[in-house]
Amino acid sequence: MPENLIVRTPSAYDYPLLIKNLLSAPIVNNPAQEIVYRDQVRHTYLDLHRRIQSLAVALTALGVKRGDTVAVMDWDSHRYLELFFAVPMLGAVLHTVNVRLSPEQILYTIDHAEDDLILVHSDFLPILEQIRGRIELSHGYVLLSDDAVQTESSIPFVGEYEALLEAAIDHFTFPDFDENTRATTFYTTGTTGLPKGVYFSHRQLVLHTLGVLATLGAKTQGSFHRDDVYMPLTPMFHVHAWGMPYVATMLGVKQVYPGRYLPDHLLSLINREKVTFSHCVPTILHMLLKHPHAATVDLSAWKVIIGGAAFPRSLCLEALSHGIDVFSGYGMSETCPILTISQLTKEMLALSAEEQAVIRCKTGLALPLVDLRIVDAEMKELPRDGVSPGEIVVRAPWLTQGYLKEQKASERLWEGGYLHTNDVAVRDASGYVRITDRTKDVIKVAGEWVSSLELEDILAHHPAVAEVAVIALPDNKWGERPLALVVAKAGHELTEKELNHHVREYAETGVVNKQVVLMKVRLIEAIDKTSVGKINKVALREKYIK
Ligand code: AMP
Repeated sequence: MPENLIVRTPSAYDYPLLIKNLLSAPIVNNPAQEIVYRDQVRHTYLDLHRRIQSLAVALTALGVKRGDTVAVMDWDSHRYLELFFAVPMLGAVLHTVNVRLSPEQILYTIDHAEDDLILVHSDFLPILEQIRGRIELSHGYVLLSDDAVQTESSIPFVGEYEALLEAAIDHFTFPDFDENTRATTFYTTGTTGLPKGVYFSHRQLVLHTLGVLATLGAKTQGSFHRDDVYMPLTPMFHVHAWGMPYVATMLGVKQVYPGRYLPDHLLSLINREKVTFSHCVPTILHMLLKHPHAATVDLSAWKVIIGGAAFPRSLCLEALSHGIDVFSGYGMSETCPILTISQLTKEMLALSAEEQAVIRCKTGLALPLVDLRIVDAEMKELPRDGVSPGEIVVRAPWLTQGYLKEQKASERLWEGGYLHTNDVAVRDASGYVRITDRTKDVIKVAGEWVSSLELEDILAHHPAVAEVAVIALPDNKWGERPLALVVAKAGHELTEKELNHHVREYAETGVVNKQVVLMKVRLIEAIDKTSVGKINKVALREKYIK
């Protein structure tokens, strides 16, 4: 045994990093703090604690035990929060089902994850009924319902959530176990091939929670603190809503769960519950700002992390004009997810909105404990000069250790001992990372890399452009040229010539690779999106590249 291992007093407690421990402080320090679900439920943290215990009693009675997998199909709810805790705290695995996948893909994930019990909201019964004949569960189905009305369904439920909780005593002693026990699993929404499962342990989720809070709490701008009111706008089925419900609970803040994302309903919740902290993909922010009610709601106390896709500068400026404190975060399903956040220093806050938007839209600075490198094909780290693009590879305490039951893909993910993100980025001398592309989306014009994201950003600045996606068009002469797929704003006329002129003006200032002028344009009705609201470039390539 190495000599410098600590000496453990026999009766000393060897504290494991378990999800249950995130609850220790808030239930004592913030017992009366609120947890709100739509306009239907208002609980306290004490209720949360009691309900987590009742849920554990009920799940145990249904046969759930350590090592089992419990699947959830729900909108963002107080129930989901309770399941975020109760299921892993039992030593079981929480499978957060992506309800926006096709029924066949949902069936694949339920089967692949080897789910034992499914808790399903009544809204998703039509999906489940289509595939139920091919699902085998050892413990059955539990109904989640927002109203007392009897739901018509052919599914033989073993119980309804509220009734099960009511019938269970509210005391349960959660056991200690190895912090490396698997706590959660979910499937990446890759647009090609079958979905791939990623998984995270108690230790990883606890460290992610601490890492995110250490970052957000350390700055004045965009800080997440005790007086905030939190509402997720990234679904809880997708990478644990970026892990933020765990952060919010540990912090003991008021939490608001909005159910299904309906823009007018979200805006009125922000207004009524005084929501101050959220996170979402750019599409959701766009949807909210476009809604007629946006002008009637005071959004000036709202801080929002934008991630999951590049944050267009035009959208950032629009949000800033509403007084919203927007800034970027970056990560992926494989990384728990958060790796970087782009907060501003005091000096930066003195800059103009235009200048601030440049920083707010950058991918950001690495979180504590995150060893993020930008490397060339030989894994050599590139200079931090803001212009040398390479792949982001990463090590951190909270990265998936592989893809579930996919050894080859797992080896590829971790080739050379670093997790490969497939994201292309540059980094400047002060550490700020800026993603310029996905490795598969880079456009190689005459051997030079043209960033599809930069070109999208430029086009989005055109006043008549509603939405845009840029993909690579194979070309005999140049190798590839950028193809801009553009949706015009309602009532606006757009031409290829006009857009080329717009792009040429930017190219002449030198802010972007001059090869962008080789862009071709196609005006289309709508841009295909993935199940989590991102631009679906694979589908666009299939459609528009013959
Ligand atoms: P997902 O696994 O579905 O969460 O997707 C992760 C991918 O989204 C990353 O690998 C990036 O390509 C992209 N992404 C996430 N955050 C950002 C960001 N802030 N800027 C640009 N791309 C992002």
